[in-house]
Amino acid sequence: MDGTQFTSRTRTTCPYCGVGCGIIATRHGDGLVNIEGDPNHPANYGRLCSKGSALAETMFLDDRLLHPEIDGARVSWDTALDRVAGTFTETIRKYGPDSVAFYVSGQFLTEDYYVANKLMKGFIGTANIDTNSRLCMASSVAGHNRAFGEDVVPASYEDLELADLVVLVGSNLAWCHPVLFQRIMAEKERRPGMRLVVIDPRRTVTAGAADLHLPIAPDGDAALFNGLLRHLDETGNLDRDYIAAHTAGFDAALSAAQASDLAGLPASTGLDRADIETFFSWAGDTQKLVTIYSQGVNQSSCGTDKVNAIINVHLATGRLGRPGMGPFSVTGQPNAMGGREVGGLANQLAAHMRIEDAADRETVQSFWKSPVIADKPGLKAVDLFDAIAAGRIKAIWIMATNPVDSLPRSWAVEDALKNCPFVVVSDNVRHTDTARHAHVLLPATAWSEKDGTVTNSERRISRQRSFMPAPGDARHDWWALKEVAHRMGWGEAFDFTSPSEIYREHAALSGFRNDGKRAFDISWHARIGDIAYEQMKPVQWPLRDKAADAIRSGQDGAPFVAGRLNHFVAVAPPGRPATGTGLVLNTGRIRDHWHTMTRTGKSATLSAHYAEPFIALHPADAAGAGITEAGLVRVSGGGEEIVLRALVTDRQRPGNCFVPMHWTDQYASGGRVGRVLDCSVDPFSGQPALKNGHVAVAPFKGAWYGFAVLAARPERIDAGYWAVARTAAGWRIEMAGDAGTPDWQTFAESLFGEPRKEAGWTAYEDHASGQFRYAYVSAGRLIGAVYFSPSPVGVSRSWAAAQLGQEVLGTSMLAGRGGLDQPDPGPTVCACFSIGANQIRAAQKEHGCRSVEDIGACLGAGTNCGSCKSEIRALIEEWPTREAAE
Ligand code: SF4
Repeated sequence: MDGTQFTSRTRTTCPYCGVGCGIIATRHGDGLVNIEGDPNHPANYGRLCSKGSALAETMFLDDRLLHPEIDGARVSWDTALDRVAGTFTETIRKYGPDSVAFYVSGQFLTEDYYVANKLMKGFIGTANIDTNSRLCMASSVAGHNRAFGEDVVPASYEDLELADLVVLVGSNLAWCHPVLFQRIMAEKERRPGMRLVVIDPRRTVTAGAADLHLPIAPDGDAALFNGLLRHLDETGNLDRDYIAAHTAGFDAALSAAQASDLAGLPASTGLDRADIETFFSWAGDTQKLVTIYSQGVNQSSCGTDKVNAIINVHLATGRLGRPGMGPFSVTGQPNAMGGREVGGLANQLAAHMRIEDAADRETVQSFWKSPVIADKPGLKAVDLFDAIAAGRIKAIWIMATNPVDSLPRSWAVEDALKNCPFVVVSDNVRHTDTARHAHVLLPATAWSEKDGTVTNSERRISRQRSFMPAPGDARHDWWALKEVAHRMGWGEAFDFTSPSEIYREHAALSGFRNDGKRAFDISWHARIGDIAYEQMKPVQWPLRDKAADAIRSGQDGAPFVAGRLNHFVAVAPPGRPATGTGLVLNTGRIRDHWHTMTRTGKSATLSAHYAEPFIALHPADAAGAGITEAGLVRVSGGGEEIVLRALVTDRQRPGNCFVPMHWTDQYASGGRVGRVLDCSVDPFSGQPALKNGHVAVAPFKGAWYGFAVLAARPERIDAGYWAVARTAAGWRIEMAGDAGTPDWQTFAESLFGEPRKEAGWTAYEDHASGQFRYAYVSAGRLIGAVYFSPSPVGVSRSWAAAQLGQEVLGTSMLAGRGGLDQPDPGPTVCACFSIGANQIRAAQKEHGCRSVEDIGACLGAGTNCGSCKSEIRALIEEWPTREAAE
């Protein structure tokens, strides 16, 4: 067998969302990798979404950080680690342990997280370690702790399929947890009586598939669920036996719910009375009810109260811990749950122990045999960066995250890092908006090279396995941490040589002095051997004394720990904010990108769905501000401004707008939404209200607009506005300028590097109309085409991008669209098969396709990962209106 015939198959997990899908990665001898869903993994049973399916496209080493650097110069690991350990030691000596911090990530594996937390809380002696999971689900953690006495998720994915009513609150599940949505929709197809209610200010594609969509006003959720609690009481739908046997605090919670009048609910929620009544009646009549909630609940200044208002309803009806029932927080990140288990948040200790509890502190300290233990909560993410700005934190180590792009007031985060005396960044990407502020850069391994465990939203621990060698000098994060610990004098406590050793210690701590007091207990794995760890199958906790799948914690609805009670929390909903303060800004994910695009931005397939940062606006708001569809928009807030493409849609509530969280300075001149987000935080969880900013909008009046497709990414784009996205054979670039008119040909050529010298070119220049078009062909193949116009450029983007690298005549590119034999596919809907909206519309018109299945049979769209099915359904629903118009 020669080298190219070699193949290896590795079972691992997806690095993106908290669904935690199992993946089989097949590595071929020629270097190619195939990704498919693992049919045996209980999270996905073989399914994957568009992001998981495209993972193989994201594994090339372009822009990888391959070597340690100090002040931009390559150094050895020893030199870099000595600098990190030496500077942290010296800073602590001079200013005390609270002068240093770690900021880590839900992308960490549990083993990385465990070592970071142990080093900071048990040896450095401060709890100044927080994680980007603070931005994702900290309100759920706080709500769980208040209700259950511990951060426990009392449901499993199987419950979604066993439920008769699934309620999604603040969750665009079809885009953000697509495989869970696919599981629900498959069950709904099998059992049409199953109902889906979506509570979301936006009419998302998820809402489009619901039996009932409640377009709630921002932060109206607590009032709605308080109202539901009151309604259930008044209609005799409470489980009094459960309340008496297993709970405390019911009277106060009910009395808080009774403080508001049901008649006032339309005003406090922004919902129609009839819709509220339908929802209440379905919730009253349906025993098997699961309420899924995510960032729309958590990312709020009253997120923790919203979580408890939801849990109150489940406690009052005894609907939890039993098949098809339960409140269910689904996490955004692949290992947010693992981080919670090791105490990765600044206000937690390891293994679900409490930092405020002296006995818990003593338990952890004796287990670690550590010289010290943090005795008070550390700084939560937003406060942490404020403390850097104030000079109180003088050394920070940021690992596997990009806070300059993900935190609100990103300009302040950037200023804080600029002024921080010592910034260390561990990442696998060389150029990020955070990395440019690092004094020391440490090259980390990436997904496919890392090895350890992750825990998904249903408490299921899975192995993330390595199947590629680490490139350059890249090393695992746990290794870098333990090397620094050694250099700071704590070698014995950090003598780890493998992730399995760390996992065993983590499992042992979970069972240490536990005796059934803490639900998080995986001590069955405290003595897991290296081979068993390597072969570990996905398993749910608790895992105390046998390797059995737990399915749901707190069996039969009883509290998770014997002798504990579940607690109601009296919730006082916030008043409706005054109007007239601009638009409410909601931020979130789109279907095909992930976080700050460091991985998904490498994929042409994933970059085709939305190739530019955008703002979704209601038509009335757009018209009021003089903004037109596909025009550019100046968005201002907190004294800052960004520029985005307008997407005018009645899917938005009037007065509300939506901007995706993904774009950074690496992909657009002004797409970083954190720059205009100046929001408050939840008082219990410290989670910022990333769905409740306030902005003003105005048209960006471009003096000129440009569009280009280029084989190579330009090093520099001299335009007031630009956005770049990958295509199969290069890049597509949108541009605009609000002043002056450049020399068009010189400007077009400035976008090229070396290949331009070899290329021939063709031009169309019309000074009267202001249309200037240039095409560049080298060795008979297109290497670039650049278009300028005084108004937004009318060129078929997908057609132009598809011509890159092809044998074309330069003159044929100047028209900006294909001939009749090359119809414009339109904006991409199905990423897997590159099917555009125009092709779907044509299939409706010309082939009589009237269902998602018809479109699948005709075009293939929606038949692979299925992530686009909701958008295909939306296009089909438009058909009668369009047909009448045509
Ligand atoms: Fe990955 Fe998609 Fe599964 Fe989430 S739903 S884990 S992004 S494949």
